Amino acid sequence: MLTQNLGYPRIGSHRELKKICENYWAGKTGYKNVLQVGKNIRHENWKLQQEAGVDIIPSNDFSFYDHVLDHSLTFGAIPKRYNEVILKKGNSELDLYFAMARGYQKDGLDVVAMEMTKWFDTNYHYIVPEFYKDQPFKLFSTKIIDEFYEAKQLGIITKPVLIGPISYLLLGKEKEAGFEKIDLIKNLLPVYLDILTRLVSLDVEYVQFDEPFLTLDLSEKEQKAYEYAYKEIKKAFPKLKIVLATYFEGLDNNLDLVTSLPMKVLHIDLVRAEVQLAEVLRRLNEKTILSLGLVDGRNIWKNDYDHSLSLINHALQKLGEDRVWIAPSCSLIHCPVDLENETDDKHLSPEIKQWLAYARQKVAEVVTLKKLITNESPASTTQKLEENKKALSNRKTSNLIHNPIVKERVANLDDSDAERLSPFSLRKVKQQSLNLPRFATTTIGSFPQTTEVRSWRAKFKNGTYSQKEYDTLIAEETAKAVKWQEDIDLDVLVHGEFERNDMVEYFGEQLDGFAFSKNGWVQSYGSRCVKPPIIYGDVSRPHPMTVKWTAYAQSLTSKYMKGMLTGPVTILQWSFVRNDQPRSLTCTQIALAIRDEVSDLEKAGIKIIQIDEPAIREGLPLRKAEWQHYLNWAVKAFRISASSVKDETQIHTHMCYSEFNDIIQNIADMDADVITIETSRSQMELLDAFANFQYPNEIGPGVYDIHSPRVPKREEMVHLLKKAKAVIPSDQLWVNPDCGLKTRGWDETKKALIEMVEAAKEMRKTE
Ligand code: GLN
Ligand code: ZN
Repeated sequence: MLTQNLGYPRIGSHRELKKICENYWAGKTGYKNVLQVGKNIRHENWKLQQEAGVDIIPSNDFSFYDHVLDHSLTFGAIPKRYNEVILKKGNSELDLYFAMARGYQKDGLDVVAMEMTKWFDTNYHYIVPEFYKDQPFKLFSTKIIDEFYEAKQLGIITKPVLIGPISYLLLGKEKEAGFEKIDLIKNLLPVYLDILTRLVSLDVEYVQFDEPFLTLDLSEKEQKAYEYAYKEIKKAFPKLKIVLATYFEGLDNNLDLVTSLPMKVLHIDLVRAEVQLAEVLRRLNEKTILSLGLVDGRNIWKNDYDHSLSLINHALQKLGEDRVWIAPSCSLIHCPVDLENETDDKHLSPEIKQWLAYARQKVAEVVTLKKLITNESPASTTQKLEENKKALSNRKTSNLIHNPIVKERVANLDDSDAERLSPFSLRKVKQQSLNLPRFATTTIGSFPQTTEVRSWRAKFKNGTYSQKEYDTLIAEETAKAVKWQEDIDLDVLVHGEFERNDMVEYFGEQLDGFAFSKNGWVQSYGSRCVKPPIIYGDVSRPHPMTVKWTAYAQSLTSKYMKGMLTGPVTILQWSFVRNDQPRSLTCTQIALAIRDEVSDLEKAGIKIIQIDEPAIREGLPLRKAEWQHYLNWAVKAFRISASSVKDETQIHTHMCYSEFNDIIQNIADMDADVITIETSRSQMELLDAFANFQYPNEIGPGVYDIHSPRVPKREEMVHLLKKAKAVIPSDQLWVNPDCGLKTRGWDETKKALIEMVEAAKEMRKTE
């Protein structure tokens, strides 16, 4: 029995990768230093896995920015617009690579970056390959071969990791009409064969092909492509040991296809889809090894050894020792690096810490599970088993986790708790008492989080500022923002969110049941890392979270001040969530906490309250068959959070997502009085989903893109609003930017909003 790892975090245990890359981009360090830091991280990772006792250690899991982009560079899938970057004297392969990731604006060249999107249902973003009709591929970067050789020099025979050819193509996007990306397999496959030839000449033993698409719904054409590609590989390299890695879901109806593919080892995800084990064991080919993905690569909880051992034993009975491997469920890049870096009890108490495992600890868990089965060093492993049992039983019964009041409140919920008092048509009449003009103007919530504002928070956190000093600064900044919004004549004001570090963290820090790590960084994209909150226990709200600042801002103006909250689904989606109860239940608990906040805001005299849900769409399960179940509980959670108020109180929600067509019914079911959405970059096309559906409630389609500092012209916004008015009745329309303005500077923000207000006034004249 062997252990394998599918991928180790590459950010470095102290985010060394982030630091060196950002220094390089800022021109503060040289090319060689960047390469050296990359090398150090790889060596550290390999050594650490070797010392932990992992049998099959991955290579090519390192990346300076993104592993999908690495593959595009490897295969020479480089869009033509980068030719000038390639040709420019002095530019290295790394410069080209970063140009593809981030765009290139230097010395008169101005080339835009490639698009970025989410990696399946994770919070990791990859650079989307761009495909053209009949596109040729050729081996451009030899990274994968170089890194295998590099490890070999250190005496470690690694298992190179490649995104499989079909998944690579499916991850990309057709940039012109007249072909399907999957047709490119014939052009692409020779490059894979080229790479394999080189690896084989260096005595590679195992090669891992990541094919996560095998856990998704596949068309017939895609299934055929799978058969074709893997048969060709087998034909060219009959002795190569292929590890076919699937993860994030079960194989389900693709199981026949998968078992027909030539491979030495099949890896399956038993954390996401434990139920598939029995069927896979029944149908697996006689000689195939099964790699059991037992240790959760997507979360931070300790493995339940007893449970894993029972699954391993089940597999062993059927397959025997030689045909069972043990592994994490997927690559560990979705976990923080090392729990040992959490040295601050204020952040993570020892009680909570004993329930957790980060990547390094997960690698050790995989090895311990093997030793428990093979009876290697029985004394120390038995002790580890006992410690594991103790930690898990402590977690089951801890007072930190279980709050009977919360459980009772959830149990007593009934359907009426998710219903506003009256239907929207009646609420709309009552809300006319708000006396808002047509094309009412507002913003999405945040105003610029300047370096200064962030420095106040840093100084407050490190004790330089007292609470009082910090509050005074925030109050002044808020007052300035309120005054300025009045001056330019916006209709519905916001307080600006200056007191918030992040839209989830700010709430998590005030809710019971949440913990915050100090070093739990996970790569989000490129050098950007996030530190998701950890939801470990029943969630409740010990005190109001936003009332003070909202009421203060309201007291400064006679206009309406919009209360600003993050919705339950978004809080859930952007956190590490407890795994001892269904996500839907945790979401409902958060919804009740937000509901209490909504009630308190209403009591404090706030008449308009926005509950942001930008993450509703990204929570969709990978398989369509499960969408409805998710949408049911997610929409219900939002409704629970929003439904305690009077008819006259206006509830807004906000989403910055580009696709509404397939979930428009569910968005309507959320029944917010007003929804603001991102639409400007698609020239209002995204509004069509709402128009076709005859969406009944009010809508604020974003009239300008907040991702760029460019100040939009008044006529452009009038033009967009006219387009909107052509498809949505004007008494349903609001005027607002695409999203919050926290990443913008004040200068461009002011100019843009002045124009926006004037654009709305122009629209009113035409009424
Ligand atoms: N209210 C938040 C803000 O303006 C919304 C952010 C978001 O949609 N991502 O920053
Ligand atoms: Zn947004």
